[in-house]
Amino acid sequence: MTEHVDHTGPGAAHAHRPHRHHYDAEMLSVEEARDRILSYFDRLPAVETALVDALGQVLAEELVAPFDIPPLTNSAMDGYAVVAADTAGASKTSPVELPVVGVIAAGRLPERPLTPGTVIRIMTGAPIPDGANAVVPFEDTDELERQKSGSVGSLSSISINAPAEPGDNIRAAGEDITAGTVVFGEGEIIGAAQIGVIASLGRAAVRAVRRPVVAIVSTGDELLEPGQEHEPGKIYNSNAYSVAAMVTRYGGVPKIMSIARDTVESLEAALEDALDGADLVVTSAGVSKGDYDVVKDVLSSKGEIALWSVRMRPAKPLAFGMLKRDDGVGVPHLGLPGNPVSAMVAFEQFGRPALRLMMGKVQAEKPSVEAVMDDAIHNYDGRRVYARVHAYQDAAGVYRARLAGNQSSGVLSSMAQANGLAICPDEIAMIDVGEIARVEMFDWPDDIF
Ligand code: AMP
Ligand code: MG
Repeated sequence: MTEHVDHTGPGAAHAHRPHRHHYDAEMLSVEEARDRILSYFDRLPAVETALVDALGQVLAEELVAPFDIPPLTNSAMDGYAVVAADTAGASKTSPVELPVVGVIAAGRLPERPLTPGTVIRIMTGAPIPDGANAVVPFEDTDELERQKSGSVGSLSSISINAPAEPGDNIRAAGEDITAGTVVFGEGEIIGAAQIGVIASLGRAAVRAVRRPVVAIVSTGDELLEPGQEHEPGKIYNSNAYSVAAMVTRYGGVPKIMSIARDTVESLEAALEDALDGADLVVTSAGVSKGDYDVVKDVLSSKGEIALWSVRMRPAKPLAFGMLKRDDGVGVPHLGLPGNPVSAMVAFEQFGRPALRLMMGKVQAEKPSVEAVMDDAIHNYDGRRVYARVHAYQDAAGVYRARLAGNQSSGVLSSMAQANGLAICPDEIAMIDVGEIARVEMFDWPDDIF
């Protein structure tokens, strides 16, 4: 891969080999950067998805119940199907003894209707025989005493200790879902309960919006892969793994590519592989304005690239563009900063919404709480500060947050001590101790829906 691909759109003016870049003079707000990025994404197509793989995906069909659930009126208890009137006045001291004329197990159909003055032994979930209008649970009979004496198998009669009302312990057919009703509409997010309900409709797979495939390319001569022998002067690639984990968490499919070295050939080869089958290519490092030009040159030779300064801390430098596959299809590219915390924070702010859009989800903000700060957050240069904090509820149930360790953008361990990012707005110089900050929480479960 040596020839650059044709430019289209804003980059088309530079039809010669593009050694220049679209630098933006001004900083973008987080929202401006996000809006620009999102304008390049669409919802992905729907695919037939096995139920177990559909968790968190968006349903792309309307599901209509083909039958009643439950399909038949059935017993809610292990007990005896009776005519309620036959049990009138029954008590412990004057039980009503009735003949047992049959048994219905779950999954079997009644062999005969119930005639008044008799009972049929019935298991939970088994269909109620015609003629019966209540179930007396074992607890209200002398079943247990009879079991102890070993006489249940040959049971010919049972003593009932409590009166039953019509309808007692009976679940009506269609009580859960009636045949013909729309159970879930298009666009509904598939949670665990939805998966259960879909299974109860007899479906093993549904049409759901496809999961985005995110290729992750780490760049840098200094990087080793985890698992490789430690070498002096090198660091392990952590960005690919933290970003891959976030991709998985938000419902995408990460594809960690080989590390690209700081040479044209290596990076071109890595991007070539990455473009194959990816809905988004994420790179890390090499996109700061002062960086060695290889990354930027290669990226711009493969499509368009915009290098932005975003008004946020950490993660000011950000690249975004469209890379061209050999077949001409454009694939969005998000270039994260190299610093490990910056990479994560930028992916959260820009990668997460892109994934949500591709997955057909609404742009829900990160789940957040208002927390009283135990420590001050300083904003030195008018950028929005995302401070690593540990948020907790005090004895009164009030959310508070303390800074989680060293706030340098290279210190990843403080990210692991944190459970959220407290935000100091762009224009606020400080949030003081005792003042309130909004904290975007990392791992709140509603975030995936
Ligand atoms: P750069 O954007 O290339 O200037 O990188 C900024 C910092 O991030 C440097 O200290 C790099 O060593 C570090 N860095 C770059 N890529 C990674 C990575 N994949 N994993 C961990 N640290 C990285
Ligand atoms: Mg570098």
